[in-house]
Amino acid sequence: MRVSDLISGVLPLEPPKFPLLPDSRGYFGAFGGTYVPEILIPNLQQLSKTFDQIRNDPTFWQDYLHELVTFSGRPTPVTYAKNLSKTLGGAQIYLKREDLGQTGAHKVNNVIGQGLIARRLGKKRIIAETGAGQHGMATATMAARFGFECTVYMGEEDVERQRPNVFWMERLGTRVVAVKDGTRTLKDAINEAMRDWSTNHEDTYYALGTACGPHPFPALVAWLQSICGLEARAQLQIMLGKMPDRVYACVGGGSNALGIFQGFIGSQQVQLVGVEAGGRGTKPGEHASRIAGGAGTPGIAQGYETIFLQNSDGQMIDTHSVAAGLDYVGVSPILADLSSKGLVKMDRASDAEVVGAIKLLMATEGIIPALESSHALAAAFRDAPSMKTDQAILVNVSGRGDKDIFTIASAFDDDSWKRFLKKKAEEGSGSLKA
Ligand SMILES: *Cc1c(COP(=O)(O)O)cnc(C)c1O
Repeated sequence: MRVSDLISGVLPLEPPKFPLLPDSRGYFGAFGGTYVPEILIPNLQQLSKTFDQIRNDPTFWQDYLHELVTFSGRPTPVTYAKNLSKTLGGAQIYLKREDLGQTGAHKVNNVIGQGLIARRLGKKRIIAETGAGQHGMATATMAARFGFECTVYMGEEDVERQRPNVFWMERLGTRVVAVKDGTRTLKDAINEAMRDWSTNHEDTYYALGTACGPHPFPALVAWLQSICGLEARAQLQIMLGKMPDRVYACVGGGSNALGIFQGFIGSQQVQLVGVEAGGRGTKPGEHASRIAGGAGTPGIAQGYETIFLQNSDGQMIDTHSVAAGLDYVGVSPILADLSSKGLVKMDRASDAEVVGAIKLLMATEGIIPALESSHALAAAFRDAPSMKTDQAILVNVSGRGDKDIFTIASAFDDDSWKRFLKKKAEEGSGSLKA
């Protein structure tokens, strides 16, 4: 295999076709739709119209590629994990490296695309919701680069838990608003962003962070993320000369999974596996597995219909995951539909399995994966040994693990790290006194 082959012909140069379009009501099978206050309908209709235009507009796709190539290092590579495959002793494992993009995850693909749309619509201001802060971070970098005023809504509880991301967003010039309603987490931040959008719809664009929410957001975000799967398909064709047998991706809202799956959807020999957060166990409140395990039920909330973790009165249930980015009650209506039709298999990985997967990938390949991505890795590592050595698995490494140093260090129970934190805390209070 020549190095030049690995570079040329990998980027999808034409606007991709979108095989996952909803019906006229914005429904994918039994899921999706638009459930928002009347005042937001014109915004969503304008966005739907724009989405239809840009999908057939080579100049939009060229601008999008240009920005991602020159700002975010696309195409991201596919890495053959040779040592890891040998250690597990089954299928050959390949990794799609979204961890190498701007801000260290696939989220940049979505925010750059939506930033270009906001510019096209003549908007001056961007708003976004964020849970763990990763989407807020990606949006803040885009807003700084594109020259938008930017406000990010974040639950007060999350603002307290995710100080490093809040610090960077503010330094990047974004206003972070701590939302004090409800449980003071992601779903309350989404509600507040929707409220802002209804008041300021003239000059403001809402850059939603994943393939959820009212139509056309699920379709729009999934389409923008398809670049990941289209690249990976071309890369495997060059490296392996065939399609993989299975593709694994973690599922929070569902955007990185839909992104990579779109390279392979419709190829019957490829099994697509979405991996949810199995958390600490199967009891309500201990996990965020909406589909795998069957705990979730259909419902309508946050602007759309999907499978939610809720009680019999339709009240949302608390979720838990070691990975903040997977800790969400809903899931993309597109994935709910694909899994109900048997086109995507849903699985889950526990917090403990995830820590094991991180250790193994670091030791064998020198790659530090995000806690979220490690769910996909954990499920793949569980399945690989029972596959044949001439079979291949592709795993989407949706992000890098640097951001998770606090959580991972505590999972490893690292004493020198604890001493370091204590010392830093003392230094901090010391300088305040000075
Ligand atoms: C946010 C995030 C996720 C979860 O979001 P999806 O929309 O399900 O992709 C997964 N991995 C990383 C690294 C993230 O930052």
